[in-house]
Amino acid sequence: MLKLEDLNVYYGGIHALKGIDMEVEENKIVTLVGANGAGKSTTLRTISSLVKPKSGKITFNGEDITNLKTTEVVKRGITLVPEGRRVFANLSVLENLKLGAFLRNDKSEIEKDIKYIYSLFPRLEERTEQMSGTLSGGEQQMLAIGRALMSRPKVLMMDEPSLGLAPLIVKDVFNIIKEINKEGITVLLIEQNAQAALKIADYAYVLETGKIVLEGPGKELASNDEVRKSYLGEN
Ligand code: ATP
Repeated sequence: MLKLEDLNVYYGGIHALKGIDMEVEENKIVTLVGANGAGKSTTLRTISSLVKPKSGKITFNGEDITNLKTTEVVKRGITLVPEGRRVFANLSVLENLKLGAFLRNDKSEIEKDIKYIYSLFPRLEERTEQMSGTLSGGEQQMLAIGRALMSRPKVLMMDEPSLGLAPLIVKDVFNIIKEINKEGITVLLIEQNAQAALKIADYAYVLETGKIVLEGPGKELASNDEVRKSYLGEN
């Protein structure tokens, strides 16, 4: 469905992605794990066309999307939930959700999707008029995911959705990711909480200083000794 071929990305003199090959199959949960600075965010940002690769190719259902504008990538169904949540603090919950649908004009369907998001996140419905900047960290994360869903993505990319959240809320976030995936949305997930990500992932890639060093089914990597020692902080 989504394919990255020999992708090379530079930030000035820094070679951040060194020939990445990756494939995300439809309806799967795929995760990208690796240490800080390995290039995980850069990979997602390149898919979203926020960063331009120097060479390589990104295709989506066979179409070359490498040099499209970000809004065109969103229109095709690939949406990013960026790290650090980034909700519009001075807008209400409802206004934030509506902004997620800015490329759509099917009003009644938009209303339906808002209802669906409120069924996924009842806490957001209770806070529909609240200014988003006053939501708790977990609520802001829910809102960021909800806002991304408002674009009706085929592929939802998430950059560290559990960062800074309390353990109980982290569990909620992972359950929501599974539920979203069951609805037919393909998920590409970056997580610092690698063990939890590998558990729910159908397939996983391990990134080290801009290169993929290992790949395989999530559960297989989670039980791989080398992965456990090097990436999951176990002995
Ligand atoms: P983290 O988990 O810490 O977010 P990451 O795996 O997502 O790490 P990236 O953010 O993709 O890693 O960064 C990859 C490399 O590119 C790092 O060496 C980083 O310092 C560098 N880098 C990222 N963004 C920029 C930028 N805007 N300008 C210059 N260098 C950058």
